[in-house]
Amino acid sequence: MNEVEAKTPEEPRDFIRDIIRADLAEGRCDTVVTRFPPEPNGYLHIGHAKSICLNFGVAAEFAGRCHLRFDDTNPVKEEHEYIESIQADVRWLGFNWGKHLFFASDNFETLYDWACHLIRNGHAYVDDLSAEEIRAHRGTLTEPGKNSPFRDRTAEENLDLFSRMRAGEFPDGARVLRAKIDMASGNINLRDPVLYRILRATHPRTGDAWCIYPTYDFAHGQSDAIEGVTHSLCTLEFADHRPLYDWLIDNLPTSSRPRQYEFSRLNLTHTVLSKRRLTQLVQERHVTGWDDPRMPTLAGLRRRGVPPAAIRDFVHRIGLTKSDNLVEVAALEHCIREYLNQVAPRRMAVLRPLKVVIENYPEGQSEELEAVNNPADPDSGTRLVPFGREIYVDQADFMEDPPKKFFRLTPGREVRLRYAFFLTCREAVKNEAGEVVELRCTYDPETRGGNAPDGRKVKATIHWVSAAHALRAQVRVYDYLFARPDPGAQGDFLEDINPESLSVLQDCRLEPALGEARLGEAIQFEREGYFCLDPDSKTGHAVFNRTIALRDGWAKTQAKGGK
Ligand code: ATP
Ligand code: MG
Repeated sequence: MNEVEAKTPEEPRDFIRDIIRADLAEGRCDTVVTRFPPEPNGYLHIGHAKSICLNFGVAAEFAGRCHLRFDDTNPVKEEHEYIESIQADVRWLGFNWGKHLFFASDNFETLYDWACHLIRNGHAYVDDLSAEEIRAHRGTLTEPGKNSPFRDRTAEENLDLFSRMRAGEFPDGARVLRAKIDMASGNINLRDPVLYRILRATHPRTGDAWCIYPTYDFAHGQSDAIEGVTHSLCTLEFADHRPLYDWLIDNLPTSSRPRQYEFSRLNLTHTVLSKRRLTQLVQERHVTGWDDPRMPTLAGLRRRGVPPAAIRDFVHRIGLTKSDNLVEVAALEHCIREYLNQVAPRRMAVLRPLKVVIENYPEGQSEELEAVNNPADPDSGTRLVPFGREIYVDQADFMEDPPKKFFRLTPGREVRLRYAFFLTCREAVKNEAGEVVELRCTYDPETRGGNAPDGRKVKATIHWVSAAHALRAQVRVYDYLFARPDPGAQGDFLEDINPESLSVLQDCRLEPALGEARLGEAIQFEREGYFCLDPDSKTGHAVFNRTIALRDGWAKTQAKGGK
């Protein structure tokens, strides 16, 4: 990990923090307790990072605490792998729940008792209607629903049926427990929502102990209350559920009363953030896994080389509002570049090698030249880079017949080799197919370090790697997984997958210092972008991922003549 921390951003201010400040000032709560409540049915993504930074950030700023709670009420889609990855990803992002790790499933017994409490008070009933009949009875936004014929069962009968549901006497889906609220409510969530369903599925934590499971709506707010959460922060789609959550709390013997506040989800251009779609990308192998560097998951971003501090900075900068919006992925890229520019050491790597023979450099000889590690960080010092008669430069830095604004190598032209010498191209050697396979050049030994004693100038500086000392590597260059800014807007989102989202460069040459690159360390390949070692690397064969290109790569280098 790069050790330099991002500058601490100024104190965030938004409507949620204003509410909390007022609650504390006016004595409505003593200690702020928040929670991040993932369902363990997928990996966390950059949208979750917004919620994590908010919940953990608020708790830290107001000296409270933030719980990590798994809302694990749906055993069909939940897995241990997700429970573990979620914890690893929250930690990686820089947050710590301490001893406050909770699972909604730890409350199953309490939730069962509370369901019985509702039944005894006439607030819940067992319904024999099928899922489809329940849907048909529910009504629409403009028409009220219809009462179920089973709605008026006595408390005794309901308690008996509910305990037999738990005992496994009925098949899956045969009966449900419903809250008895109001089938004519203008809010469909209040039209006798389902609280429990019969479902024979092995739960990752409770195994086969239960064959009835609470719905998310009956577990979420109740778990908040059990944990003493004061501010239950969630995304806008839950605003319509709030009256139900409040109704449940009003009718249950809870010892605390969480308040729910909603904020807008993060949406990003060129990106899908629905877990259903992300799962589909993984399961149908459109990507190599949840941690594919093209995925917007935290695991994917980590593998791609995106530092957690850049994600935190991004979330801080986009702020918090109550209206849905779409953020340009370029805003995230900006935060990544800005952070990496401060911390990433510079190295030289040639991605598309073209051999250069320096005819006037003595055969069998080599020397070491001093190179700056990071001009943005004076403490990072310098290193020695070997130089010799044969070097590699990038194919893109040579043109036999260049347009006017091209200032890099071409026969007869002198350029600067970064940290080394002035080099003049004499001749391009071609193969039978007419492709340039080698450049014959000469250098000026008087220009060691990159300046001419006679003061003559060159218009371009290019990077290079000594052929005799170079390491070989594979470099994976990524583009957006979705070419369209709004994947799926015109139909199936899978059809918008960018067929060129991954380019593999096989025979790249690296300066020897890159042999010491560590996993998780960000490195700038000069003039190319930011890169990091991929876990697929093997001894003697490194694999690097391009995290992100330098700003506007091609257009800018052209304008500036390759500098
Ligand atoms: P789905 O993609 O199926 O809607 P989900 O994103 O709601 O699932 P959860 O595990 O329930 O998945 O999310 C945990 C928390 O993260 C919730 O509080 C949710 O509101 C928040 N969250 C999820 N996606 C985003 C997002 N894009 N922006 C901000 N917060 C999000
Ligand atoms: Mg959810």
